[in-house]
Amino acid sequence: MTLTRTTCPYCGVGCGVLAGADGTIKGDPDHPANFGRLCSKGAALGETIDLDGRLLNPMIHGKRADWDTALDLVADTFSAAIAQHGPDSVAFYASGQLLTEDYYVANKLMKGFIGSANIDTNSRLCMASSVAGHKRAFGTDTVPGTYEDLEQADLIVLVGSNLAWCHPVLHQRIAAAKEARPAMRVVNIDPRRTATSDLADMHLSITPDGDVALFNGLLAHLADTAHIDAAFTDAHISGLADTLAAARTTDVSDTGLPADVLNAFFTLWAETKKVVTVYSQGVNQSQSGTDKVNAILNCHLATGRIGKPGCGPFSVTGQPNAMGGREVGGLSNMLANHLEIDNPDHRAAVQEFWNSPTICTTAGLKAVDLFQACADGKIKALWVMSTNPAVSMPDADGVAAAIANVPFVVTSDMIEATDTNALAHVLLPAAGWGEKDGTVTNSERRVSRQRSFLPIPSEARPDWRIVSDVATRMGFGDAFAYQKPADIFAEYVALDTALSPFPRDLDLSIFADADYANLIPTQWPRNGHRFFADGAFYHPDGKARMISVTAPKLTKPRLALNTGRTRDQWHTMTRTGKSPRLGAHLAEPYVEIHPTDAAELGAVPGAVIEVQSLYGTALLRALITNRTPKGQLFAPMHWTRQRTTTGTINSLTAPVVDPVSGQPSLKAGAVTAQVYPAA
Ligand code: SF4
Repeated sequence: MTLTRTTCPYCGVGCGVLAGADGTIKGDPDHPANFGRLCSKGAALGETIDLDGRLLNPMIHGKRADWDTALDLVADTFSAAIAQHGPDSVAFYASGQLLTEDYYVANKLMKGFIGSANIDTNSRLCMASSVAGHKRAFGTDTVPGTYEDLEQADLIVLVGSNLAWCHPVLHQRIAAAKEARPAMRVVNIDPRRTATSDLADMHLSITPDGDVALFNGLLAHLADTAHIDAAFTDAHISGLADTLAAARTTDVSDTGLPADVLNAFFTLWAETKKVVTVYSQGVNQSQSGTDKVNAILNCHLATGRIGKPGCGPFSVTGQPNAMGGREVGGLSNMLANHLEIDNPDHRAAVQEFWNSPTICTTAGLKAVDLFQACADGKIKALWVMSTNPAVSMPDADGVAAAIANVPFVVTSDMIEATDTNALAHVLLPAAGWGEKDGTVTNSERRVSRQRSFLPIPSEARPDWRIVSDVATRMGFGDAFAYQKPADIFAEYVALDTALSPFPRDLDLSIFADADYANLIPTQWPRNGHRFFADGAFYHPDGKARMISVTAPKLTKPRLALNTGRTRDQWHTMTRTGKSPRLGAHLAEPYVEIHPTDAAELGAVPGAVIEVQSLYGTALLRALITNRTPKGQLFAPMHWTRQRTTTGTINSLTAPVVDPVSGQPSLKAGAVTAQVYPAA
């Protein structure tokens, strides 16, 4: 069996995979992300590539249609809405599952040809707070870390990150490094004790959203114990004095951690020179997400622990191509190639390169606001690409109602029966993993190829082609005459060259003469380059900024609902749900509850708990465990309305967001609970 070198479609680790049409799956020993390792989800990929449940032909109003009719209808309806109500009356909602080429074309159509920035993505739910924090601190959205740093560090601090389940191969790499170097220390900061905590030397069961208080407390401790790197901060950092003054006002008891635990953590961090702080959704998915990110970055900037091997803050992305989406401007507040919508020179340069009739002039709607605009009747035509917002957005029932309120909804997806497709007027069948070609960028900025090893089934088409076909019918054919993904990648790289006068970190010159077919996994700006090693940052003065952040005033609900992933499922289970061995891990929707809370409710193991919020209700099997603290619940987000009749988790979560990034808070919503049925 010939095996094709491709990339796993699940998490942001971006592992290399050798895949065969007969379902053979092996870890790619030559891929620098995983060196042959795979986790349970990656290893089961071969069990998920059948055609069961696939959307295989266009559908209009539930009836099979041909492509020309469906594409004409989409193009004509979007064009009519724009003509009648303006460009901001239409919207795209995209996905970190899309390949970079798909993302580039969708972004180009919306921002350069429709003239609106109303294209947002489910990556808004994943890492928008990190993007915003990076831009505030560094002047650009730069992730300075590499996976090798994790192996070279003497201390790894994992904040709001269940790496063992959500980025398992990175967890494997850290575990191997720790075994090889027993002096290496791992600290896990998470309200819950998770599988990741089992690797840690220290688990800090922090109060939900206590992170700003913790890292402000650490910054004050670093100053008090003479661990600020004055030479580095004098030369390369602004804002130290104000940031430190704000940090000193913090009450570290807001962390909920005992003084001796805090002191032990602060001392370990201060006295270890090579520290990597890894963070993900527990930091990002919060009303204070961006401030949390900057509180972490402040500590690294104050000590010069950035730009050196084994040092630095490291935001790991959740989705396989969340990073690629950032690069091409897939968020509604970004232009292509890390340029700014509100900079007229940037807009003019992109418009000139695209030779486009228009360009968006203001940021578009971020995810929660986008669906609110649907509810308010402001969006007349909506295109959802490769994602399922009717179940994955907070207040999912409200979002489903909002989508139902849009006069024209089109989805492009590889699966037919999704909660969002049920609300759409037109379904367009998309090619899936193993069938389509393109590139993805992982958490350490490494661009890898996804390659096809299966024929595209029936009438499905790659996303880039579907978008280009619609763009052509809207009258923009000259700019969307792509024949293959390599044409799009070449244009994306050429755009980067045209933008070279502008200070950005995204330097794609290494790909200028790339052999696309044989592209090997490559980090931008160039393999081995270390961002900020020279102390140069991207603000106009060349310095990084420490940002004054104050700990949020926490109102503690009697019960707070934390949401997240399980080890063996991915998002809404459209692929992982096909594998019996993955399904055997945790087979039904459940809620973790502390024994004391369970006793107060009168719940025994396996009881059904009715969890309620202001937004909805779900019935969940009780998993009684002291891994989840008293006063908190934890429930995974994978089960859709298609897979359970007892309520999906995001029916409970609130549409509240971080004010800077627009990222929803999904980790500590107020709920009530009772045993079901009530006595
Ligand atoms: Fe795929 Fe992530 Fe597992 Fe690697 S760690 S095999 S990228 S799911």
